[in-house]
Amino acid sequence: MTQTPPDRAQETLLSHAGRDPAGNFGIVNPPVYHASTVLFPTLAALEASDRNPFEGVNYGRTGTPTSQAFEAAVSQLEGGWRAVTAASGLSAIATALSAFTASGDHILVTDSAYGPTRRFCNEVLRGYGVETEYYDPLIGAGIARLIRPSTRVVFLESPGSLTFEVQDIPAVAAAARAAAAGGPLTLMIDNTWASPLYFKPFDHGIDVSLHAATKYMVGHSDAMLGVIVTNQASFEPVKRTAMRFGTCAGPDDVYLGLRGLRTMAVRLARHQESGLALADWLARRPEVARVLHPGRPGDPGHALWRRDFTGASGLFAAVLRPCSKAAVAAMLDHLALFGIGYSWGGFESLALPVYPARIRSAVPWSEPGPVIRFHAGLENIDDLIRDLDQGFARLSAAL
Ligand SMILES: *Cc1c(COP(=O)(O)O)cnc(C)c1O
Repeated sequence: MTQTPPDRAQETLLSHAGRDPAGNFGIVNPPVYHASTVLFPTLAALEASDRNPFEGVNYGRTGTPTSQAFEAAVSQLEGGWRAVTAASGLSAIATALSAFTASGDHILVTDSAYGPTRRFCNEVLRGYGVETEYYDPLIGAGIARLIRPSTRVVFLESPGSLTFEVQDIPAVAAAARAAAAGGPLTLMIDNTWASPLYFKPFDHGIDVSLHAATKYMVGHSDAMLGVIVTNQASFEPVKRTAMRFGTCAGPDDVYLGLRGLRTMAVRLARHQESGLALADWLARRPEVARVLHPGRPGDPGHALWRRDFTGASGLFAAVLRPCSKAAVAAMLDHLALFGIGYSWGGFESLALPVYPARIRSAVPWSEPGPVIRFHAGLENIDDLIRDLDQGFARLSAAL
């Protein structure tokens, strides 16, 4: 089961995977191949390439040495078999879900999934005749009760987007597989939060791992990128679907993903440290009702997180005591260091109101106060705390 490379530490892999200086004039980094047409010396060579669609370089859309270097590095790091590059995290998710579903199928998706993943299921897959059923992220082995003969995918995301519940991933995987009784079932996880560094899906019963490489892999808020990492059995269906959809990414963006990997371990360590420090500070504030961060002892997901993860990223949330939107705006509008905006995983800190109550369907969200999602960037922690402290003063003055 374990596919994680045992012989090299992760930081070492990050420095060396997906590079071949000896094959490239000694230059440390791989070149960025800008390509559409790929020329073949003979008709026979072209036809041989067409017969072998999962290997080599055939056409820009189906893979270049640049995308293949990125895929090799990410799949090696995560312990998968191979990977497929996409233009965004959402494109990776849409491609992977499409690879394993057809009209008449049923899929199970965690109620804590990223909003645009839900919209893809509710609008696009539904239009194609695929039924999505949302399940309680805390369901664990109870997932077995929801498996039907037509169930083809169980989709997990842990910790959940916006609300940070930790799923019992091995229990879900084992119970779902047992209930499917050998029928075709693919277990898929959105592993963006942990990144391949802090959670190893293929060691926990998952078949396909999805990433918004836009976040920590690129790491600098300057490119959109996605990647689908698969086990051996899932690779061909995923790659074939990617080829049918035209799923690919621009070479410069792929290169930014590859470059971001080199520093990801040191960046993530700092995001983790600052995220925990901010979360601890927020938990002591009178304006805060609850902090949602599985890396904190006392969080409902902490025990599972400790068991299955090796670290936490810098993304978490805090539920404020009930207050007006104007009070939240008074706090957020004038923060000097925390930006207001979508995405996360860059070097900069962010604070964003989020609305889980609007998207939940299986388990209603019951916290009455506003939920603010924070991304701890790489700034100095004391500066960040001072910024939030001044923000809370404005919030209190506006109550
Ligand atoms: C951002 C995000 C995505 C989508 O990634 P994009 O690159 O923005 O398309 C998917 N899942 C999670 C958990 C995300 O945070």
